[in-house]
Amino acid sequence: MNRKAVTPLDIIIIIAVVVLSLGIMLASLFSNSGNKAVITVNEQVVAEYNLLNNVKKEIKTQYGVNTVEILNGECFVSFADCRDGICVSRGKISKIGESIVCLPHKLIVEIK
Ligand SMILES: [Zn+2]
Repeated sequence: MNRKAVTPLDIIIIIAVVVLSLGIMLASLFSNSGNKAVITVNEQVVAEYNLLNNVKKEIKTQYGVNTVEILNGECFVSFADCRDGICVSRGKISKIGESIVCLPHKLIVEIK
């Protein structure tokens, strides 16, 4: 008998191990991913968006304009007429607890 031959049982075990480790990997990858972006202005919630939907929303307030976008599960401010531009340069957020703050406009985008 060739002891190096791969038996069907070996293949089942290998597949089981691969599926299991992939599952653990995916679970840890998505466990802290938020599922919605909550936009507040002056501590008032003005909009909530599911991260699964691509959204482009212009938030106009008395303070100014911010364009909030959700693309492929990530949320970011693509445009703002604030004086510092920190909200735009903050980049993309997608994990629970991450936030984009636009201080001049009193605008906060938070992932929940
Ligand atoms: Zn800003």
